[in-house]
Amino acid sequence: MSGLIKGRTGEWEVVIGLEVHAQVISRAKLFSGAATDFGAEPNTQVSFVDAAFPGMLPVINRFCVEQAVKTGLGLDAEIHLSSVFDRKNYFYADLPAGYQISQFSRPVVGKGKIVLDLSDGTTREIGITRVHLEQDAGKSLHDQHPTKTYVDLNRAGVALMEIVSEPDLRTAKEAGAYLRKLRAILRYLGTCDANMEEGNLRCDCNVSVRKPGGKLGTRCEIKNVNSVRFVMQAIEHEARRQIEVIEDGGAVKQETRLFDSGKGVTRSMRTKEESHDYRYFPDPDLLPLTFDADWVEGLKTSLPELPDVKKARFMRDYKLSAYDAGLLVAERENAEYFEAVAKGRDPKLASNWVTVELFGALNKLGKGIADSPIDPKNLGELIDLIADSTLSGRLAKDVFAEMITSGKRARVIVDEKGLRQVTDTGAIEAAIDMVLAKEPAKVAEYRAGKEKLLAFFVGQVMKATQGKANPALVNELLKKKLAG
Ligand code: ADP
Ligand code: MG
Repeated sequence: MSGLIKGRTGEWEVVIGLEVHAQVISRAKLFSGAATDFGAEPNTQVSFVDAAFPGMLPVINRFCVEQAVKTGLGLDAEIHLSSVFDRKNYFYADLPAGYQISQFSRPVVGKGKIVLDLSDGTTREIGITRVHLEQDAGKSLHDQHPTKTYVDLNRAGVALMEIVSEPDLRTAKEAGAYLRKLRAILRYLGTCDANMEEGNLRCDCNVSVRKPGGKLGTRCEIKNVNSVRFVMQAIEHEARRQIEVIEDGGAVKQETRLFDSGKGVTRSMRTKEESHDYRYFPDPDLLPLTFDADWVEGLKTSLPELPDVKKARFMRDYKLSAYDAGLLVAERENAEYFEAVAKGRDPKLASNWVTVELFGALNKLGKGIADSPIDPKNLGELIDLIADSTLSGRLAKDVFAEMITSGKRARVIVDEKGLRQVTDTGAIEAAIDMVLAKEPAKVAEYRAGKEKLLAFFVGQVMKATQGKANPALVNELLKKKLAG
């Protein structure tokens, strides 16, 4: 999979760098004690600092800093033991101070990396340029009044981490894989809920195109795209647009664009000439942020097992494929569920039941694993019933379907419905005799060499036993009888 796009003048390579704003999980804001609960009444979670009353001073929230450092460690990044907060000046109604406190020249986290798990089972490393801490702005509400705009400052001052990637991504698919992996890491760390639909993870996409191996082209930045699917669509569209511009003899202008998800196109928002001069300078109200190396080490040892390490362990200890292991570790809850099922059982069987049957069923129900009607103990019980030959694979699927709808235990369903697999050779032989007696012509054909009829006989015997006969036994006994 090269990922190159064909144009009229040959092939083009797409270059993508993502800037992700991740809202820090914290009960209080970055520089004030105001609450951060989602969905509160407008302007009920605003301190004087957030509203920028004159003379109010910011006080750094130690917990938010810890969250940013943990995130840096989770991205295998360099932690700067000293960093600085700057003022980023611009005027907007939902920014009462007239500046946002951010980090510009010296961010808290430096270079790191994210390993992508691609759909063909291979991996690719993407560089992280930096992670810095900054405040969120308030929200302008344009839909509350026909002629007025209202301002809600609940979000003003909430801590954000801006996570900037190197321009290492080459396809929309890779950008999707990057966001999914970043989401997984943040959730494992518990530093961000990483829900794009809820707006606590927001993505700006920088896109340029070039002839393969050529120098970097001029980029456009698509602001605030709010789902993984839209990010992929926006990149796809933007790359083709730029190729067309260049192939028509024009040049790409560096600009900020918006993605219209209804039409699937990007539109110009402002050009480079119209872009702000933020007049960054160090915030005089805040001292540089400094850490002891020991404190950082302590945080490092407290990190949970992260997706890459877990994936490697699943491949090594459970002998799972890269693909299956990747699926299972994508969410921490899924991985925990799987391990509970696999404990003392055949891991490959457990993985299949979790990734294929359970994920499939939950997908249809629109539920996550936390709301699964089947708990790991119960799914394990079903797998035990297969392992001890009580259930054939086919019967197990029926029982599973019933477990999903009723939430009943596997053994209860087996007893209630009399679904026990027939492994009694006498009973199976009786069914075979009956089928063969009914089909003398086909028996003759089989014996004359038409061996594919075996499948037909197996089907008939399974039918005669209401699907309860052990298929392996049916095969074996049928062959014997037909030969004799
Ligand atoms: P700014 O802060 O003005 O947006 P940066 O230099 O910090 O500019 O870059 C922001 C993002 O743009 C980064 O994710 C980076 O990887 C990406 N980027 C830089 N140059 C290019 C390019 N030519 N094509 C695509 N992405 C790029
Ligand atoms: Mg930018």
